[in-house]
Amino acid sequence: MKALHVTGCYYFPNSSQHQYCTAQVNNEQVQLLNQNNDLIHSASTIDCILESPIPGVAAQLSFCNGGRFIPDDVDFRWPFGNKVYSISERLEKNKLLILLSVVVAPLLLWLILYRGIPAIAVYSVNVASPAVVESMGEQSLAVIEKIALEPTQLSIDQQADLQSKWAQMLTALELDNTKFRLSFYQSDYLAANAFALPHGRVVVTDELVTLLADKPDALRAILLHEIGHVEHHHGVRLSAQAVASTVVLAVIFGDLEGITEVVLGSGSSFLQQAFSRDMEREADNYAIEKLVKLGYSNHDFADAIEALQQSLEEQHAELEDNWLKYLSTHPSSQERIEHARQYKP
Ligand SMILES: [Zn+2]
Repeated sequence: MKALHVTGCYYFPNSSQHQYCTAQVNNEQVQLLNQNNDLIHSASTIDCILESPIPGVAAQLSFCNGGRFIPDDVDFRWPFGNKVYSISERLEKNKLLILLSVVVAPLLLWLILYRGIPAIAVYSVNVASPAVVESMGEQSLAVIEKIALEPTQLSIDQQADLQSKWAQMLTALELDNTKFRLSFYQSDYLAANAFALPHGRVVVTDELVTLLADKPDALRAILLHEIGHVEHHHGVRLSAQAVASTVVLAVIFGDLEGITEVVLGSGSSFLQQAFSRDMEREADNYAIEKLVKLGYSNHDFADAIEALQQSLEEQHAELEDNWLKYLSTHPSSQERIEHARQYKP
């Protein structure tokens, strides 16, 4: 190895004290010499620790004793540096590659998140066993119960009446009545609302029942919309998508501890996630088609959305975040109402 000199600063171990000096590399030895050529420190190159070089940053050399030497010249590179490091540094300096990665990285991320993961999610519907979906759904309900639901205030008679209409509807549609279950809860948080869990439990708030008390067929339309979400496996797809996205993002951004939290906490995240607009349209179409098939009218669905929209406007003063979110993720109510009214079997 050829003798080599570089000037720089030596920082003494565990101290802010430093000294200007020259580093000399010779026969796999690094020697630090002061202005009078006195030896300050010497070490074998094998014992020196070299961090991966960053373009524009001086290549610091650390010694076993805790001391370190920083060259003045930011472009100086040690002759015994790791070959792999120098390749990665050359790549980091290549402007075309930098430009390319700026374009390609987001594109790749987009492809993975918006094409790859939904595809995996669709696939997961076929591999997820009913038992897994059932326990996932019941766990989600337990979490949501704690956060947002109170016991129902509906009278026993009112509940029995709605349950028998529900059972009749399931029979007419040849749907499994052990899978599709209807539950009532009072909820200040969700207000007039309904949601379906992936395993087939449909939750309706007292507020929604009250809102549609004189429009039983509109309530039926909402229930059919929720059954549509289950029949199209939207919940399973959404959960699989959420878990897969988190895993991908955690791997890319290096937060592996966050994964377990998301996998375990999928119940609470269910409340924060909204079905995509396409999923909502699918569920809308399911509801409208089944209404007509059962001898009711496509206008019942439009009436339901209209009533919800109206109650929203009345509550406008106390409009909360969750409603704003509900509106921004659901296809616009007007669009849904018109779509339902124009339906031709
Ligand atoms: Zn929906």
